[in-house]
Amino acid sequence: MYIPADKTRNLTPYQPIEGNYRIRLDANESFLLPTDDDRQAMAQAAAEVAFNRYPDPYASELCADFAKLYGISPEYVTAGNGSDELISIIYYAMLEKGEKVLTLTPDFSMYSFYSSIAETVCVNLDKGADMEIDVDTVLKTIEREKIRMVIFSNPCNPTSLGLRAEEVRRLILGTDALVVVDEAYMDFWDQTIIREAHHYDNLILLRTCSKALGMAALRIGFAVANPAITKILRAAKSPYNVNAVSQAMASVVLKNPLYKSVYNDIIITSRDMLINGLKRLESEGLVEKVYNSRTNFAFVKLDDADGVFNSLADRGIAVRKIGENHLRITAGREEENREVLCAISSYLRMKKGEGYENRCIFAKD
Ligand SMILES: *Cc1c(COP(=O)(O)O)cnc(C)c1O
Repeated sequence: MYIPADKTRNLTPYQPIEGNYRIRLDANESFLLPTDDDRQAMAQAAAEVAFNRYPDPYASELCADFAKLYGISPEYVTAGNGSDELISIIYYAMLEKGEKVLTLTPDFSMYSFYSSIAETVCVNLDKGADMEIDVDTVLKTIEREKIRMVIFSNPCNPTSLGLRAEEVRRLILGTDALVVVDEAYMDFWDQTIIREAHHYDNLILLRTCSKALGMAALRIGFAVANPAITKILRAAKSPYNVNAVSQAMASVVLKNPLYKSVYNDIIITSRDMLINGLKRLESEGLVEKVYNSRTNFAFVKLDDADGVFNSLADRGIAVRKIGENHLRITAGREEENREVLCAISSYLRMKKGEGYENRCIFAKD
């Protein structure tokens, strides 16, 4: 009788939110599509792909477009089928079985998920009540636990908080462990270390096209590291990991600076609107805490996160519940933000015994 391997027997397949929601604010995607002109150009580029041939294994044009947009050299860049794939490649390429990985909780769930498949040992360091990363504690834990790799998102999903570049540098320089900094949301903040990433011998920086750049469907991510690490990542990945259609389509978007500038500002404006609305509820004592977002989503602490989550779901609005007391809400279009704010506000007012609002404070004038 065949018995499956211990390390994977109890894994469960990833569960995206199911059901028919009118408003999807659960996955931190961009609410903007590429322009009509660019969508046309993408369709054209896809139509011209040599479908009978394997794609460029190094996605050279795509990496060059990415590098140019961010002001770095393409020799430090490896493309992946989403940064998710790059995370799994890092686990099996950079670590031996049984070696220790440090994650800081709460953080992106995929970091600990890949640990078991790669047969590494995942050590979780709790961020504490303020949810901030304390570099000294991280460095001490690395030392004490003999950690070989530390991985975290900056700014963080789900806390929305950011660690300043100076502190990230102090962490990288303070250890011989490999430091993986996932900058999936760094387009929304100005503390990137992407331009200096190749100077460190122990850093892999991750970027994605799935958030600010609005291409989650294409599955494109990038790793930026020094030439020695880049060589390992390129050698360890499967040869044709990024398909030719995605390469061609994403190149169109990366060649247009509009998305990293104007679109980004539109998303940040939406984020600020959502955060300001939630802060208003915080000042009224309806919401416990609104965290200082450096991302395209809000992270809020609520006494009754379950109740709010369910009442939003009843109204066809999907958000993410994190742990017992927190919700993560992606910034959406203006009407979507108004709707989610009104829904949260009226549920919490009703619960407090204030009855239905005649008119939501967040409704358009
Ligand atoms: C969304 C997200 C990613 C993106 O993954 P892709 O596979 O590139 O879509 C990576 N890291 C974090 C922290 C994220 O939130």
